[in-house]
Amino acid sequence: MHEWALAESVIKTAVEHAASEKFKKLKETGVVFGELQAIDKEIFAFALEELRKQFPAARDCKFKISVEPAAFRCKACAHEFPLKGLRKTKDEAEFIHFVPEMAHTFLKCPKCKSPDFEIAAGRGVGISYLKGGR
Ligand SMILES: [Zn+2]
Repeated sequence: MHEWALAESVIKTAVEHAASEKFKKLKETGVVFGELQAIDKEIFAFALEELRKQFPAARDCKFKISVEPAAFRCKACAHEFPLKGLRKTKDEAEFIHFVPEMAHTFLKCPKCKSPDFEIAAGRGVGISYLKGGR
C-alpha cells in the first residue's frame, strides 16, 4: 500500500501547486522517483490513474513517471559516483534498493576507497514539472 500513499501525496501536491498557479485543470505532471525508492512502478502508475479521479483538477492529468538514477557522494574526497557500474551481484543491488543505508557495507568510493559517503541522488519521490490550463 506504500505505492498508494505515495501516489496520493503526489496528486495532492500537484493539485495544490495547480491551485497556486491558478490552473483550473492539470494536463500533465512529471513525477520523478529515485532508483533507491523501493516502490513498484506499475502499482504506482496504476494508483495515480485511479486516485486522480478523486481530484477534479487532476482528473484528466497525465502522469509521466521517470526514474532518477542513484548516485553517491564521497564524504572524504567529494567524488560523486553512480550506483550503476558499482554493482557486484544482483543480490547486492536488490539489497541496496530495499535498504539504501546498507550500501555502506559493500560499496566504497571508487576514487579514494573510503566507505564514508552519502546518497546524492536517487531517493524519494517528487514532482519535476506541471502543465495546466487556466
Ligand atoms: Zn572518495
